Formats: sequence, structure tokens, C-alpha cells
Amino acid sequence: MLAAVLRGARDIRVEETPTPVPGDGEVVIKVEVCSVCGSDLHAYNGMHPKVTYPRILGHEYSGVVSEVGKGVKDVKPGDRVGADTNLTCGACVYCRNGRVNLCPSSKTLGFNMDGAYAQYIKIPVGINIYHLPDNVTFEEAALAQPLGVGFNAVKRRAGVTVGDVVAVMGAGPIGLSCLLLAKASGAFVVISDTLDHRLETARKLGADVTINISQEDLMERIRELTGGEGVDKVIEAVGGRQDMTLMQSTQIVRRGGLIVVVGTFSDNKASLRITEFKDREMELKGARGQHNTFKPCMRLISTGRVNVKPMISHVLSLQEIESGLQMMTDPAEKVSKIIIKF
Ligand SMILES: [Zn+2]
Ligand SMILES: [Zn+2]
Repeated sequence: MLAAVLRGARDIRVEETPTPVPGDGEVVIKVEVCSVCGSDLHAYNGMHPKVTYPRILGHEYSGVVSEVGKGVKDVKPGDRVGADTNLTCGACVYCRNGRVNLCPSSKTLGFNMDGAYAQYIKIPVGINIYHLPDNVTFEEAALAQPLGVGFNAVKRRAGVTVGDVVAVMGAGPIGLSCLLLAKASGAFVVISDTLDHRLETARKLGADVTINISQEDLMERIRELTGGEGVDKVIEAVGGRQDMTLMQSTQIVRRGGLIVVVGTFSDNKASLRITEFKDREMELKGARGQHNTFKPCMRLISTGRVNVKPMISHVLSLQEIESGLQMMTDPAEKVSKIIIKF
């Protein structure tokens, strides 16, 4: 089969590799769509802590079952499916108590197991596979993974509900996923970014207010919108190499409000206005990845409550993967989500 193999930092090659064969309990999926994640770019640049080489990246995927190993009963060849990405141990205190995404020994397809930048992917025993509803496309199913990250942040960690005023900082795919989920929950959603094309996508996805923070004063706009009070909840979905958003979060959230950090901060640090944080009794929570989110996200997509399609900005072939990864660093390319179609 053809696969894009990452052999080292900035060394990705589309080459012929052995097609995986399912062992007992394993399933091989013919990949139809794999979308490109910001963390794939980190991996390509040699900056992802989990990645070992050589590695086939790709963890946001969907396809058709091509072969099943002995003992597999839930799916059969020809079934349209999506699947989770994390293989958790099932035995630790977190796995046994419903905090599966906190499993300290979890492994992830596309980072420390081979992923879906390939014509076929082998799903090991222990990773759940799901049938796709007939009206859900392979493209939409691939986006159920980033949508699941938003689901974990917005529903499980932030508990966003009808009537909440929510500020989402960052309109990349995870910020946009958070926007979709917060809107589907009945919240009033303000979203900010520095790039107009991202905010344009946010408006297509139903944002109530968009703020370009390179042109407008975020604090001022939030004060206007909330009568000086601040928002109920902030979802930080920027991360990266900056030290502004967490400080801004404490300035735009109301007294007693909640800040949920889902963005990945590359330098592992961010400053907080600690006195405001303490005196105004704010709450701060982390949100990590996704788990058990595929079914609810599929239902939200198939019933039309959430429309992920406007997030797709580019459709490329596997051969174009390297230029796709490089496009993500160039704002002129206006990348929101790149889809690799097989
Ligand atoms: Zn991802
Ligand atoms: Zn575990």
C-alpha cells in the first residue's frame, strides 16, 4: 500500500509499505478520508513529544472495513466506519473510573502507533470502531475526532448550557469545534482570532459575535457585549507559543467564572493574572483530547445539529501531504481543515 511515512523531522515520504494484516480481534480499514491536524504539523517539525520514527501519522480518519481478524463480530468487510484514536490500558484507576482520556499509559494512532496517512490502517484490539450513519459522509466522520475534543472541553469540562455566554479564544479547528458544540448547547458565543478568514468560517458556523483581536480591543468588546460583567465561560483554544490568552481570559470572564484550557501551549507555560484570579474566585480547568465522543458527535452531525462541513478548506491527495503540512504555516493559504482524500 501507499503511505506517507515520517522518517524524521521534516522528512516525510510517500512510499510503498506492507499492507497491514489483521491479527486476532483486529480490523483493517481501507482509509477513505484522513484530515490533517495541527499536532501532525508539530510531529512533522519534530516537536511532538509522543512521536517515534518511522511513523505513519494521521488520527482523524474514516473508511471502509477491508479485512477482520479472528473473533471480530461487530464489523464486517464493506462496513462504513470511523474509530477512536487512543488505546488505553483499561486497568488503571482512570480507565476504571470513566476518566479514560487521563490513562497514563495510553497510546495514540498516528503518534506512537501507525495512523491513517495510508491506504489501510490496522485498528488494534481495544480501540472502538463505530458504524457511520448513512447520511454522514467520510469527510464529516473524519472530523468527528476534533469535534470530540470540543465535546470534551465544552460539555464535560465547561458544562456549557442554554443561556451561557461563552467566549472561545481561537478559531482554528478545535476552537471552531468548541463553537459548534457551544451553539448546539444553546449558548451565546463570541469567538476571537487574529485571522479574518477563520472568523469568516466561524460566522458560517453560527458564531454570534466574532472579534479580530489584531484590529479590535478584546476586553473592550466583551465589556460592551456583557454590560461590563464579563462572560460566564472562556474556552482557550489557541495555545502555541504565546503568553497572552490566559491573561486575557481572566480579564474577560465574569466574577466566579470558568476558564477551560484546551489549547496546547508549546512551551509548557502561560501567565495568569493571579490576584484577579483569586479575588474574583475564578475557576480554571484543563481539557485533554477526547474519549467516548464518537457516538454523540455522529448523532449531532447526522441530525444536522452540528455542521462541520464549512471547516473543510482544502481537499488534497496523499501525494500532496507535505505541501499540505507546509500550507498550514502560511496564513495566505487560508487553511482551516485540510482533508486527505484517497
Ligand atoms: Zn488532532
Ligand atoms: Zn488506563
